[in-house]
Amino acid sequence: MYGAPPIAGTVPPPPYGARTAPLNAHDAHADAHALPGDAQRAPGRGASGNVRDAGAGFNAPSFASNAPMNAPPRAPAMSSSAHNANAASSFAHAHPSGASASAAYGSAARSVGAQTLAPSTMPMPMPMGMIPAVANGAQAGYAYGVAGQGTPPRGAASAYGAAAAGTPPGVGGRAYGALVMPPGGVPMPMPMMAPGMISGPGGMPPGAPPPQAMGAPPQAMGYQPAAPYAPSMNFVEDFASLNLAPGGGPGGEPGMDPATFPRPGDDQPRPNLELSCDPKYMRLTCGVLPANPSLKTRFAMPIGCIVQPLCPGDEHVVQTAHFGSSGIVRCRRCRTYINPFVQFTDGGRRFRCNVCALPNEVPVDYFCTLDANGVRRDIAERPELNSGSVEFLASQEYMVRPPMPPAYFFVLDVSHTSVNSGFLKKTLETIRISLGALEKKSDRTLIGFLTYDSTLHFYSLKPTQSQPQMMVVAELDDPFCPMPDDLLVNLTESRAVIEAFLDMAGSSFLQTQNMESAMGPAIQAAFMAMQHVGGKLLVFQSCLPTLGAGRLVNRDDARASADATREHLLRGPVDGFFKKISAECSRQQICIDLYTIAAPYSDLASLAVLSKYTGGELHHYPGFTLEKDGFKFEKELRNNLERFTAWEAVCRVRCSRGFRICAFNGHFFIRSMDLLALPATDGDKAYGVHIAHDEVVPSTNISYLQCALLYTSAEGERRIRVHTMAVPVVTDIAEMYRAVDGGAMGAFMARLGVERSLTVRLQDAREAVMSKLVATLREFKLLNTQASRAFNRLIFPDSMKLLPLFMFAACKCAALRGGARDVPVDQRIASVFDFMSASTDEILKMLYPSMYALHSMPKESGTKDEYDRVMLPPRTVLAGERIDARGAYLVDDGRRLLLWLGKMLDPNFVGALFGPRGPPSADVDCVLPESENDVSKRVRAIVDDIRARASRARHLALTVVIQGHPSETQLFPYLVEDRGAANVDGAASYADFLVAVHRQVSSPTR
Ligand SMILES: [Zn+2]
Repeated sequence: MYGAPPIAGTVPPPPYGARTAPLNAHDAHADAHALPGDAQRAPGRGASGNVRDAGAGFNAPSFASNAPMNAPPRAPAMSSSAHNANAASSFAHAHPSGASASAAYGSAARSVGAQTLAPSTMPMPMPMGMIPAVANGAQAGYAYGVAGQGTPPRGAASAYGAAAAGTPPGVGGRAYGALVMPPGGVPMPMPMMAPGMISGPGGMPPGAPPPQAMGAPPQAMGYQPAAPYAPSMNFVEDFASLNLAPGGGPGGEPGMDPATFPRPGDDQPRPNLELSCDPKYMRLTCGVLPANPSLKTRFAMPIGCIVQPLCPGDEHVVQTAHFGSSGIVRCRRCRTYINPFVQFTDGGRRFRCNVCALPNEVPVDYFCTLDANGVRRDIAERPELNSGSVEFLASQEYMVRPPMPPAYFFVLDVSHTSVNSGFLKKTLETIRISLGALEKKSDRTLIGFLTYDSTLHFYSLKPTQSQPQMMVVAELDDPFCPMPDDLLVNLTESRAVIEAFLDMAGSSFLQTQNMESAMGPAIQAAFMAMQHVGGKLLVFQSCLPTLGAGRLVNRDDARASADATREHLLRGPVDGFFKKISAECSRQQICIDLYTIAAPYSDLASLAVLSKYTGGELHHYPGFTLEKDGFKFEKELRNNLERFTAWEAVCRVRCSRGFRICAFNGHFFIRSMDLLALPATDGDKAYGVHIAHDEVVPSTNISYLQCALLYTSAEGERRIRVHTMAVPVVTDIAEMYRAVDGGAMGAFMARLGVERSLTVRLQDAREAVMSKLVATLREFKLLNTQASRAFNRLIFPDSMKLLPLFMFAACKCAALRGGARDVPVDQRIASVFDFMSASTDEILKMLYPSMYALHSMPKESGTKDEYDRVMLPPRTVLAGERIDARGAYLVDDGRRLLLWLGKMLDPNFVGALFGPRGPPSADVDCVLPESENDVSKRVRAIVDDIRARASRARHLALTVVIQGHPSETQLFPYLVEDRGAANVDGAASYADFLVAVHRQVSSPTR
């Protein structure tokens, strides 16, 4: 979301569903600010930004004007920013000083109307003279090239390319638009831009009168919501475009300028409707749902939702709702939990379910009278009725057994590699550090250990013992579990003996020469030890499993992947052993987290299913050394042990009639059609949910999604976290294009693409991604007939301006790029499973990392602004041509930091940053020395700030590479915009890719 200021001359489209009244979303403002031209506004239809303050607006279901039966009691008002970013709340996202640099995409440039917001509607003082300028686009656009007027802080638009010497400085002087000579010879303004410019839709030509003077009243713009899609209709052409002309022709026509291509900034999610949950919990790829399957087919892109039910954050505290003795109130037919969108009727004695429309009796102990607007008088005290996110305390009926205690069973490889690399020692130390936190979580915490090489070693940890008692089992074909009761013990009671084990285990295997690994039998034995409780099974593996069930062989040989038709088989499990055991684990509430260090190959494709089907996670530290990975591993393991964890969880997403959840993407096991079994989950994990049409056509123009996660807390409470959201249902595909959440769509499609690579050839997986993009852009082009006449221009909805880049970057990520041998298969698998459990923001960061030029950063970068936030330097385009041998560049992909130092970098800069010893080698996690000079202080502040903002589940190790040294090749995969080596599949540059997309979009068939 680009925080666009409230702009004069904006004609927003009408609210969803208000097809019978020429009403627009600016009614929100009309209520408060008496906009001109609103005389025909129907009374009582105020869909205000805050419904509860809207008085009469309470029972004014503006979305349901033709379906009052299904109207929510209080209209789920489109928060104004949800609708094309044109109002005050969207503005709130932008930092004041970044306002002028905010990309005035969308509404600003779609400036054709004549309405002017009263100055009082401005959330910040702004000279009036600026308004037409903004509307003209003169202030708009990305501040590529320079930092603009002061470095735009977070929340402002993206500011790319301090190093981009050729980029025009400043934002002034950029004019949108071009005069186009139609056949008749009369110049007419067209929504086109100056060569190479990215523009908001409808940018004005230079010298054209300001929009107010165009004299077109808003109604004459002819947004005709009821009209069916037809090429001839008079609707607002609503698009952005890119010049892709080759340039340099005889006519001197300027060609494309890659400096102006869209690139991500600090993009915000599209807000959900009022009273819905925050988008960080449930984020739709498209903020509206198509009313029928044919609309969905035309739209071509997936309709889905990324759910992260336990997403952490301080800004939203999820409140707990309490019910009387009759328990949690739910719809008796579809089992939807009570939520802000149910409608109370009959004086409060009944409520109509918002999902299935069934009238339900209100339980006696939940009854409350209604006020004149039909709203319960106790609404303020009822979090379940005034917030889209809430927790319920579950009663006995939600338990099939007493709530389980937190349980951690560690399965440790003690073979030669594990011991020699320091992996075992670091694991034991980290567990020891976390014991305090584990004990603090709950006094019921259980803990147990098993070690293995060519045999299995069990440890009795009874509190009455002073030392752990070790038993060795050599029987691998049918492993058994000696003294099953003493293996998983209470941490508090056995703390002393557990600590004795952690001290002893490190030294016991110091001299080992054992290279064997009975990993499969070890997991089978651990399963037996913990199946009566469930919990987390943490496996630490250092090599390819060689003994017993589940032993693997190295199948990563050239012959296997030389056959192009079978190349993908290497990315699937070799047999069903690990899937079978993970299904059993899931059934017994066991979640497997896998930490592996083997390099170059440990058949992760076979092992990863252990984490996938049990809702766990996969951490891969190939070629583990303490210097390189020690701190990273410690932090990531500690986070796993110490974070909030939800145990024995199940998750279900319900949706209104007409829709159904048809598929999922992520780490889980599907039980009974649509129930996700998650033996353990936490706030770091996200799931993709695919939405399809049901047999029945949706009958309402607002639909609902509800995600419910039932889990056991560390304290032993059974709780249900419920998120509910309202989503408009539309019949107009233009509405769908407008409502695309580019970030969510990019992440969702990347998830699907990488998942697909496990079962099809890489080339096919990439083409599948590409074909969706082409299909949707082609459909969009058909809608915008006028624009589509522009030759050499790729047109796209403004909401999707970053989607081509995200899809392009997805095809170049480690999971999808090149041919079978271009990325080690273990690295691909680690990347695939990372994508499939990561949050949207993390995925977008992996797709298009941030790169900062440290040698030329503005002087305020690395210092704090007035809000005590560290100001980061402007981002640099990820292209080799932007890399200067006199420079130092820092890359952040959300997983690691890479600092590249040019050959000709000022030695004083190097000295200031690294001290007399100079830069460290590329195989250590660099700790920058704490020098008191300006460069050192600012760079350290930047590194610390990037780390603080990264996912808590990750430590971003800092690798330093020097130009000309072999390690510098680590930088190249991040330069995604470059053309790759000629012999690598799909290695186009960003410009090549856009041209290819444009060509396919323009081709009549295919
Ligand atoms: Zn229902």
